[in-house]
Parts: sequence; C-alpha cells; structure tokens
Amino acid sequence: MELIFLGTGDEHGVPRIGCECAVCRNVLSPGSRNYRTGPAAVLRYGPSYGQRLVLLDVPPELRLQVTNQHLGPFDALLLTHTHDAHFLGLGPLLTAQRETGRPLPVHAPPQVLDDARERLAYLWNDKTYRRILQPEPMGTTADLWGLSVQALRVDHGLGGTAYGYVLSYDDTRLGYVSDMLRATPEVRRALSGLDVLVLGASHYYEGIEMWKRSVMDVMTAVELIRELSPRRAFLTHLSHTVDYDEVAERLPASTMLAYDGLVVEVPT
Ligand SMILES: [Zn+2]
Ligand SMILES: [Zn+2]
Repeated sequence: MELIFLGTGDEHGVPRIGCECAVCRNVLSPGSRNYRTGPAAVLRYGPSYGQRLVLLDVPPELRLQVTNQHLGPFDALLLTHTHDAHFLGLGPLLTAQRETGRPLPVHAPPQVLDDARERLAYLWNDKTYRRILQPEPMGTTADLWGLSVQALRVDHGLGGTAYGYVLSYDDTRLGYVSDMLRATPEVRRALSGLDVLVLGASHYYEGIEMWKRSVMDVMTAVELIRELSPRRAFLTHLSHTVDYDEVAERLPASTMLAYDGLVVEVPT
C-alpha cells in the first residue's frame, strides 16, 4: 500500500497571499520543502482487488496536485469535512471523472454529505454529474475493495466537528486525522498502536487560548504520538510558521513532517 501526500498545508497554504515571512519567501529556494498546498492524500492499494486509488479530501489545488503525481481518475473519495481547503476541488474532480466515464463514490458520515450538498448544491443539481457523483453516507465503517474504513468523529475546536479515518488493509492499519484540536478517549483508543499515524498540526507551538484554536500544534501532536505509539507518524496541515528544516530536526526519530509529493511505502 502507498500513502501519497498531495498537499500538506493549512487552509492558507504556503506561501500565503501577500506574506513576506521567511518561510513564505523560502519556498523559492531550490529543494525547499515549505511549499504547501491544501491538505489531501491518496491511498493506493491492491493487487488482489485490482489497483485502487482512494482520495482523502479534495483541496482547491486538486487538479495540480494529482497531475503532478500522474494520478487519477479515482475509485472513491473520503471526505473529512467541508472546510474550503479540504473540499473546494470537488467540482473539478467530478468534471475529470465524468470525462473518463468513472463514477465517484463519496464516502463520509451523513452530516458531512449534507453539508457538502448544501455548500455545492450546483453539483448535485447538474444532471451531467448525476451518474458520477455517488454520495455514500457511512455509519461508522465502510468497505472499499478490501480496505476497511472506520470514521472517527473528532473535536475540531473553533472549526466545529471533523472526521478522521482509520484505514485497514490486511493487517496494516493507518490513521489519517488532519483537523483535530483535542483527542477524546474514544479517538485515542481507535488510534492506538497503528502502523502509520497522520496527524494535522498547524504551528510548532500555538500559545493562544484554547477556544480560539482549531487544530493541535506540533508539540501536542508529538506528545500524543508518544502516547499512541504508532510505528511511524507524519505531520500534515502545516502553516507558514513551520519551517521544514528547523522543525524536522526537533522531532523524534519515528515522526516526520510530511511535504507535498511525499510517497510513503506501507508494507501490508
Ligand atoms: Zn508567511
Ligand atoms: Zn478544518
């Protein structure tokens, strides 16, 4: 199985529009890992069920992200929530799927699909998309060609509610939770002892009041990773306050900052 990080930025991306900070300016340096588009990933797995490509979220930059990686069309989409940076690429993706004649099952808990329909009603109302867009409301689990998917409701702080997913294929378990402020005991149980854990962290340390925040910071994420002890952990949803080289060297050995285009081999 392969986990491909399409985008690893927060909702503003890096560089931010109009920002002259050192990290935003650094994206132009050769080899910089600070250039970050909206948070999304792809899981590639098979072969007993054929090669499958499942997308996790659809940022506004989706077309550029997937064409850079020569990926698509896709077999399914899992949506974590409908904040712009995770979701506004749905229209362009459906157009691409329609051109290739491939339906797009969209799996998410019912509340997320209701929000999606309300926010992008034109897609649901367009008859040329009707055969392509296949909303699949999920309870707590779904099966995608041998990939078992468990939805986790997570506390997104000021951002409301989001979902994370635990994805199991054979005996390999991977967690993807990009937008969580605090982990409930239930979430901790579900994310404990995974092979790969992906957590979102917007800043290295965000010293503002908790009620103003929506995603955990790197320091909290590292503590949580220590407690949950996955084999390997990756941090995504990074803002322009996180300089890749500077923060990467402060992380424990099993934890790494993800970057746009990173491909992780996950043995199954
Ligand atoms: Zn900046
Ligand atoms: Zn969000």
